[in-house]
Amino acid sequence: MHRIYENDDITVFWDSERCVHSRNCVMGAPDNFNVNKKPWVNLENADAAKVWQALDKCPDKALSCVYNHDIKVLLEEDNCRSAAYDAGKKIGECDYKINGETITMFHTEVDPEYGGKSIAKRLAYKVIEMAEKKKLTINPTCSYVAKILGE
Ligand code: SF4
Repeated sequence: MHRIYENDDITVFWDSERCVHSRNCVMGAPDNFNVNKKPWVNLENADAAKVWQALDKCPDKALSCVYNHDIKVLLEEDNCRSAAYDAGKKIGECDYKINGETITMFHTEVDPEYGGKSIAKRLAYKVIEMAEKKKLTINPTCSYVAKILGE
């Protein structure tokens, strides 16, 4: 399972298949990671430094975190894509098409000027999370998405 959690400053990615249940996240930042709550990750009023420290101790990076750099990433289902915006200017997108129970994720691209900010990962996770919640079968013809899914 892949989930994405955001606030204005940071984005946290969760890949449940990598989790070995060490609970380092829960012990390191109990206000933000609580397995007895839904959702179990809460970034409201999060201290970004504290979240980073907790996630540094996550074995195998089941949880990971990036700064948003003021880039907004939105899921735009009407356009079959997620899209990234810098002050209203579109600087990246992840495109898909849905056919029955299958979603084909075929293209992910970010303006090279914005490289090194994990924007492609944010774009891909937005779509993957939606697909998993809708119980769609993901066909990742985009090599970047395939890599995230471990295929
Ligand atoms: S620290 Fe990582 S491996 Fe440990 S419980 Fe949290 S998510 Fe799972």
